[in-house]
Amino acid sequence: MKTIVIIGGGHAAAQLCAALAEGNFTGRVVLVSEELHLPYHRPPLSKTLIKDAAALLPELRGAAFYAQSGVELRLGQRAVRIDRAARQVVLQAPDGGAEDRLAYDHLVLATGSRARHLPGVPEDLPNLHTLRNFDDAVRLRSALSQAQRLMVIGGGFIGLELAASARALGKAVTLIEAAPRLLARAVSPAISRHLLDHHRAAGVDVRLGSAPQRVVVENDRFTGVVLNDESLAADLLLVGIGARPEVSLAEVSGLDCSNGIRVDPLLQTSDPDISAIGDCTTFPYGADATSIRLESVQNANDQAKALAARLLGQPVAYAPVPWFWSEQGDVRLQIAGLWHDGLRAVTRAGAKAGSFSIAHYDGTQFVAMESINAPLDHMTARRWLQQQHSPAPEAFADAARPLKDL
Ligand SMILES: Cc1cc2nc3c(=O)[nH]c(=O)nc-3n(C[C@H](O)[C@H](O)[C@H](O)COP(=O)(O)OP(=O)(O)OC[C@H]3O[C@@H](n4cnc5c(N)ncnc54)[C@H](O)[C@@H]3O)c2cc1C
Repeated sequence: MKTIVIIGGGHAAAQLCAALAEGNFTGRVVLVSEELHLPYHRPPLSKTLIKDAAALLPELRGAAFYAQSGVELRLGQRAVRIDRAARQVVLQAPDGGAEDRLAYDHLVLATGSRARHLPGVPEDLPNLHTLRNFDDAVRLRSALSQAQRLMVIGGGFIGLELAASARALGKAVTLIEAAPRLLARAVSPAISRHLLDHHRAAGVDVRLGSAPQRVVVENDRFTGVVLNDESLAADLLLVGIGARPEVSLAEVSGLDCSNGIRVDPLLQTSDPDISAIGDCTTFPYGADATSIRLESVQNANDQAKALAARLLGQPVAYAPVPWFWSEQGDVRLQIAGLWHDGLRAVTRAGAKAGSFSIAHYDGTQFVAMESINAPLDHMTARRWLQQQHSPAPEAFADAARPLKDL
């Protein structure tokens, strides 16, 4: 393998560069990103960075790493198509201009995901925000410093984290969620309730089970929404209604896509010369090989490591223990495994006030754990899932019994 070209400048791309360097890959590695920044940590964007006017780009690795590892950086360039027959990728500046071609022996798509927009609402309103990248965060941070009232549409992870950050800055926050509970697809009802209580206690005006009848735009600015015939005014709007996989390059180049770029357990796309990793992929998971897509740092990093092993000649099937975290004010939620409806929930009180964990069982099989401010429980759950160990539910519920004894 002579030249590996990686499209994308996020967690997956950076981790792939690192894993190739650690494996002493001797070929050429080129990283192409439409962003002008070195790859950086995305989680702080909605948490610490938004609250700290002085916070800089949270780089994953400094420029010296790429120079020392021999990774060529092509920042500020977008891959617009793949000439698969010639094994070349066509690049262009994001605002257009002349095209350039880059030859590859193996191409890796790590194009991540994009924020969804509200249908029917102009995307370019100056006080309408989505939060996906560093530039979005800087723009939102600056706007928040001038605003008094923030409206968040969407009670998903980014909307809730941002609501907590804005409250910490003393802003009035209204959060509207169409579903009857928060994070309905990702967490169990008990965790939804806990988070609802937490945000309401922190002063967020959470409205569940309703979507705005109208988003009000006056003089080309967002001024509020009409919800259940009530007018709610705000200075800023954050649309946090989820993300969609960035598959436009893959689709235009004829690769199989379905809610993401389809990859096999070795992370190969429908073209053997092209692999894909991170948020943009849909992959077979579990004993029944269900197609799933994950949006998490864990998935981006672990897929990158698995792909590096294959490119270095030691293929391993990607069989993850999914895990995730979110910070909402002083609540740290950690999830190991994948929760879904129909599981049996067993709660264990934590050592400190406000900390607890819920283990979820499919029959007798332990399949997931949600932890609130209980990091040791979370780490233990990841080990149990790795080892396919199922602690007895009664023993788990007994907070007096140390987890290591289970
Ligand atoms: C605000 C925020 C908070 C988050 N918090 C958490 C958290 O607490 N815990 C957690 O586990 N996960 C969190 N996530 C999710 C996590 O950041 C993502 O799962 C992770 O970034 C995925 O990595 P990736 O490399 O697949 O994609 P990304 O990090 O999205 O990177 C994709 C990159 O590809 C570039 N790109 C796309 N198309 C092209 C193209 N055609 N040409 C060139 N470049 C292209 C994009 O500009 C981007 O730089 C958060 C995400 C956000 C936005």
